[in-house]
Amino acid sequence: MSAITLQGVRKSFGDNAVLKGIDLTVEPGQVVCLIGPSGSGKSTVLRCVNMLETPDEGTIVVDGSEITDPDVDIDGVRRRIGLVFQQFNLFPHLTVLRNCTIAQERVLHRGRAEAKRVALANLRKVGLADRGDAMPAQLSGGQQQRVAIARALSMDPRLMLFDEPTSALDPELVGDVLAVMRGLADAGMTMLVVTHEMAFARDVADVVAFMDGGVIVEQGPAAEVIEHPRNARTREFLKRVL
Ligand code: ADP
Ligand code: MG
Repeated sequence: MSAITLQGVRKSFGDNAVLKGIDLTVEPGQVVCLIGPSGSGKSTVLRCVNMLETPDEGTIVVDGSEITDPDVDIDGVRRRIGLVFQQFNLFPHLTVLRNCTIAQERVLHRGRAEAKRVALANLRKVGLADRGDAMPAQLSGGQQQRVAIARALSMDPRLMLFDEPTSALDPELVGDVLAVMRGLADAGMTMLVVTHEMAFARDVADVVAFMDGGVIVEQGPAAEVIEHPRNARTREFLKRVL
């Protein structure tokens, strides 16, 4: 069973056809990177996978549940998906540790001690075990993004969606976040990642999919797509970003 399957997914906003028939599969343990120019529909794909947007047509299956079925328990499916966006959206008035425990307690109904244990284990994974008492504003953007990753991991997700997790960061802070993501990939986490970091995509992804104008123009093994793109639009895009 695949972790994520999209088949024939279409989505329009008014008369703007943003997704024009997306077919994409992420197998358990795979890292799939979605690349492509701004406005090509990458975020909309991720938002459909998490049902923040409802496709007009097509089917999406996440971790065995068909989320395009109107009767699906969407909260149950969402609980299995970890989300990391460009903007970290930590609760500014809560400590780093509390940011990582609150949803565990309220959504998963874990006790305080258990939630804290899980949070600390995940803060350790992202290299921030000693910053649990800090407030988000006291951390750098890169550290805040690593907290956002720890917070998502603390919910024991079956898969993780990343939407340009390093795009808002100063260049010198990007590496630490990518290193954490690489660690997750090495540990076998299933990940669908929208990114402009081509070195990351080439080295870490199993599959790279290039989107342009609401379609996946080309997809295949990461090294193949990035180093030997077959499609002229992919070549043009890579020439601009590499
Ligand atoms: P990308 O992430 O590749 O930059 P997006 O998926 O964010 O692309 O957006 C693709 C297109 O869909 C853009 O033209 C954008 O303006 C449009 N779009 C995205 N979300 C909405 C929305 N909620 N309402 C109207 N238009 C939207
Ligand atoms: Mg986007």
